[in-house]
Amino acid sequence: MQGRHGTEREKRRRIAVERIDYLMNLADTAASLGNISLATDYVKQARGIGMRYTIRLPARYKRRFCKYCYSYLKPMISSRTRINSVRKRVEVKCLNCGRVMFFPYGREKKERRRKRNERA
Ligand SMILES: [Zn+2]
Repeated sequence: MQGRHGTEREKRRRIAVERIDYLMNLADTAASLGNISLATDYVKQARGIGMRYTIRLPARYKRRFCKYCYSYLKPMISSRTRINSVRKRVEVKCLNCGRVMFFPYGREKKERRRKRNERA
């Protein structure tokens, strides 16, 4: 019933996702060069596309920007990360707006353990 219309829409959404990936890559590059404000700009552009096509930014990007002000989060530069072992979560503070986000624990712990094993 939807036929062609549905396909077209899917195609547009797929292109939009590709553009988001592309912009997030640019954001990573800008941030790694120390240009956080440019990185933030790319994040906002990616979000703009997401809103236009009603696509949520992929989960893999969640920790890269502040969910309140969309500032690119680069540890030590635009964010402070601490692990709260009591509450089993990672707390990321955005240094742009000062708000704190919480992420569940799992991944970091595993990565840390892996690094420790590599060193040993
Ligand atoms: Zn923020």
